[in-house]
Amino acid sequence: MTAGGRADVVVVGAGVIGAAVAWRTAQRGLSVVLVDPAPGCGASYAAAGMLAPVAEAAYGEETLLGLCLDSAARYPAFLAELRGACDVPVARTSGATVVVALDGDDLRALDRLSDYHDELGLPVRRLTGRDCRRLEPLLSPRVRGGLSVEGDHAVDPRALVQALLAAGARRGVRLVRRSASSLLVESGSARGVRLDTGEDLTADVVVVAAGSWSGPTGPLGGLPAHLVPPVRPVKGQVLRLRGEPGPAGLTRTVRGWAHGAPVYVVPYGDGRVVLGATSEEMGFNTDVTAGGAYELLRDALALVPGLAELELVEATARLRPATPDNAPLIGPTAMPGLVLATGHYRNGVLLAPVTADALAGFLATGVPAGEVSAFSPRRFSATAQQVSR
Ligand SMILES: Cc1cc2nc3c(=O)[nH]c(=O)nc-3n(C[C@H](O)[C@H](O)[C@H](O)COP(=O)(O)OP(=O)(O)OC[C@H]3O[C@@H](n4cnc5c(N)ncnc54)[C@H](O)[C@@H]3O)c2cc1C
Repeated sequence: MTAGGRADVVVVGAGVIGAAVAWRTAQRGLSVVLVDPAPGCGASYAAAGMLAPVAEAAYGEETLLGLCLDSAARYPAFLAELRGACDVPVARTSGATVVVALDGDDLRALDRLSDYHDELGLPVRRLTGRDCRRLEPLLSPRVRGGLSVEGDHAVDPRALVQALLAAGARRGVRLVRRSASSLLVESGSARGVRLDTGEDLTADVVVVAAGSWSGPTGPLGGLPAHLVPPVRPVKGQVLRLRGEPGPAGLTRTVRGWAHGAPVYVVPYGDGRVVLGATSEEMGFNTDVTAGGAYELLRDALALVPGLAELELVEATARLRPATPDNAPLIGPTAMPGLVLATGHYRNGVLLAPVTADALAGFLATGVPAGEVSAFSPRRFSATAQQVSR
């Protein structure tokens, strides 16, 4: 049974990535069906929403850093256009980021990070403990030094996904609240998806943006190994707090280390604050654990003791879609008609604009976008073929 007419594009997964790709693609005049049983309820629901290419910069990931900086630069125009395209208010936070150190080990880690930033010419400013507290009076008196990263902001990812879905709907994106159970393949090409109802959705192109379910456990699981994206779930737990909005609150995202673990505190500027995040290789388990919540509170309170006064409103665990090299899979695969937009791991909110722009351009013109060429899914196909032989 076929559901609806043939579309130009079916997008599987309506997290921040699938919703952004669907909106941008519909803007290019293509007909788009977006399939998801629970839009916006995957990793995008838990994300803190940091747009933090500089504070997150990691050794050996310079190509990824380039993509993150590109996407961060697109954010102001992306959000302005989105606000004009729907009624959901969504904005970048005005506060920047401060990375702080509590002890000698942290200061050494900060030195290394700061040297790395200097090597790459990234704009950061070194701060004394007193400078840090001048910027953020709520920081612990134990803070001994820090870095100010003025260009790293944040966005509320839940509002962002709702805005993307609303803007997409206005552009004619059809949302189907079902699960895609398998890919339809005709003469070696992707031609749509079969839903869990048994109905078929046919399309010229299928974009798989199913986050952690894009790998072997998802609708592509039955394909030959070289076509199945090497995506695995990495669990992250976060806590959400609420305080009084106003000048007494934090204005900047605070990142640091406490008890040897990285931790961050993200204020949205309206009294809401997110503390994160654990990073756990636990398969598809999404239990919120007492230990996870305890560690997050202990570590975040070490940086900002006043958080203890805030109301604890939510504890959430979701799955980051990770890949073997921590970089996303964006673009066409070896199967005609099958395109990936997945594996965004720790940076999916940040990378939504560049991913959506690149894929919408490719889907409209057939020309792969240069800015994502290093993130082609084909970089893993050869390895998978060798392994399966
Ligand atoms: C705790 C935590 C904190 C994070 N903080 C940040 C941050 O500060 N900044 C940042 O940039 N990133 C952050 N991330 C990472 C970011 O959340 C992810 O990279 C991003 O949300 C991935 O988006 P996605 O759309 O690919 O996946 P998801 O949001 O997981 O969406 C995938 C969607 O696919 C759907 N789906 C699954 N299977 C099927 C199927 N068979 N058929 C149809 N639909 C299906 C699901 O229902 C889901 O809605 C964080 C992640 C976590 C877990």
